[in-house]
Amino acid sequence: MIENPYIFKIQRYCIHDGPGIRTTIFFQGCPLSCLWCHNPESQAMPVKSDKKNIDKLADFLMEEIEKDLIFYDDSRGGVTFSGGEPLCQPQLLFRLLDLCRKKEIHTCLDTSGYGDNKIILKAAKKADLFLYDIKLLDTKLHEKYTGKSVGPVLENLKQLSKQRAAIRLRFPFIPQMTDTSENIGSIIAFLKENTIYRDIHILPFHKAGEGKYSSLNMKNQMKDIKVPSQEKLTRIKEQFESRGFNVTLGG
Ligand code: SF4
Repeated sequence: MIENPYIFKIQRYCIHDGPGIRTTIFFQGCPLSCLWCHNPESQAMPVKSDKKNIDKLADFLMEEIEKDLIFYDDSRGGVTFSGGEPLCQPQLLFRLLDLCRKKEIHTCLDTSGYGDNKIILKAAKKADLFLYDIKLLDTKLHEKYTGKSVGPVLENLKQLSKQRAAIRLRFPFIPQMTDTSENIGSIIAFLKENTIYRDIHILPFHKAGEGKYSSLNMKNQMKDIKVPSQEKLTRIKEQFESRGFNVTLGG
């Protein structure tokens, strides 16, 4: 891959980032700093670039994406823009979404939902499916564990729902942080009152990114947190299901 500060990784043959087999493009930069982040190297914002560079990078990325067209076709897959937070680089994101649509490549936008309202609504017109995280409803707790308030995440979700945007909601199950009955109850109430979405994917906390923290000289605040037991996952799954949600465990 060419050296650039805007994309930190390209991963091929992904099966957990949306439907089918996908290429995932990881954007650099995220406004949040979730304690459980598996990609802490993605959080630092890149410097702004000009249109010429962005177009050049988009062309390079399309070449990478198109290498696996045959797998996308066979598996009903495509490309996923993840991060970091892709909404932080709207010019590059929109350019890639437009190019993919032209070539009929299915696109997913994996987002925290924390972004500029105009940008996310514009992205909804260009992307085929959002993978949208809903973590914590209490704004103080959201701020404590992610560094930012939950307000924009909820407001954007409401507006996307009004537009009937295709969204796969994802709930990161983080022991001692997002897994309380109270939080799940608030999420259910919010979704029922404000959105059309009744499917949710539960993403259990795992320790895959742990080694990165020491190599980046960052403090890993999750080192004493254990991965959730099957019993706890079942309890949360049943809480959603008892209120009419279809639940999938995993991406
Ligand atoms: S939103 Fe995602 S990329 Fe950003 S800090 Fe949280 S987990 Fe990491």
